[in-house]
Amino acid sequence: MSAAKLYFDYNATTPVDPAVLKLMAEVARDNFGNPSSGHCFGRPGAKLVEQARIQVAHLLRAESAAEICFTSGGTESDNLALKGVVMPLLLRGLKPHVIISEVEHPAILESCRFLEQAGAEITRLKVAGDGTLSAVQVANAIKDETVLVSLMLANNETGVIFPLREISTITRSRGVLLHTDAVQALGKVEIDVNELGVDMLSLSGHKIYGPKGVGALWLRSGIALEPLFHGGGQESGLRSGTENMIGIAALGHACEILSDRMKEEGCRIEKLRNELEFNLNAALDQELIFHGHRDFRVPNTISLSVPYIDGESLLAHLDLDDIAVSAGSACSSGEHQGSPVLRAMGLNSDLAQGSVRISLGRWTEPDEVSVFLEKFTTIVRRLWKISPLYQNR
Ligand code: PLP
Repeated sequence: MSAAKLYFDYNATTPVDPAVLKLMAEVARDNFGNPSSGHCFGRPGAKLVEQARIQVAHLLRAESAAEICFTSGGTESDNLALKGVVMPLLLRGLKPHVIISEVEHPAILESCRFLEQAGAEITRLKVAGDGTLSAVQVANAIKDETVLVSLMLANNETGVIFPLREISTITRSRGVLLHTDAVQALGKVEIDVNELGVDMLSLSGHKIYGPKGVGALWLRSGIALEPLFHGGGQESGLRSGTENMIGIAALGHACEILSDRMKEEGCRIEKLRNELEFNLNAALDQELIFHGHRDFRVPNTISLSVPYIDGESLLAHLDLDDIAVSAGSACSSGEHQGSPVLRAMGLNSDLAQGSVRISLGRWTEPDEVSVFLEKFTTIVRRLWKISPLYQNR
């Protein structure tokens, strides 16, 4: 990455780790065989895929590598978990009930919209002002027809962590499956699928210093899903299609790197994040509004609103200075009401539109944080100067 450019958008995607990149080049060069071919060209590829399966399973503390199904990423894993459970029931003429939250990623929200149109009933749980959700809410929403609860482990915008461990006690006692979208949590918090008590977990390569276009669904042994893709029966029949060997090997290696250094990396990043958060607020007269629970959140994310400033113009000015952050206000519906996640947390549209997500990662250095602080502060002060709202506050 160019030294002059400042990347503070690790929740959007992460650069590929050089060690992973090296492995990808080697696999691309040395392993063109089809892993399903039983000959000497295919066998090494099959071995790579199985090794990656073990590496992913190890990071998740899964009981068996056979519980990992490789996919094209978080979106596909989420679709597979939801549709794989619900579609067979719809096809049998039943009306299954699914519980999610209002702040899930579009991969979950839109899959549920589709399932709703196909006849399923969906309950979307509200979150509190700090982005949290309680296990009691889940308990109260479960009914006889409930087949699945799907809740993210960590939110992509605020970093807020949901209490999946407590929720799993409830889903287990009520005989309901529990899926978690852990795309933003993996690598940031320790995950032990058995301790967490979930039944399915989605993850994505490009959020953990692997490449885009590869991910996995961890699936507890014994759970039967209807596949999304039908064909040659790869991935134990759950995901047909010739394996993305380069991506899968890369995902495995990215997981192995995390297994080794996640703890140390998390502490380092959290310290930088907390300093940046504190210093930004101090430098801008305590005017910033921070979103999300202060404790129940991943260590790398800051979600904030700058009052009296439009988030889009703040982002554009930061971009002119070669600083990459993300607008919490990205609005796919075009209504420009601001971030749906922050709106669900009760923020008014002005503050939701002025929101910014700053996310740190493996290569964020203290001197970059200092430059970020200085540039961000200068830009906000400049925009405040020309903001009538700020002048008349
Ligand atoms: N779930 C969450 C929480 C995400 O943040 C993302 C990506 O931003 C996804 C799912 C989708 O993952 P992918 O980009 O691998 O399809």
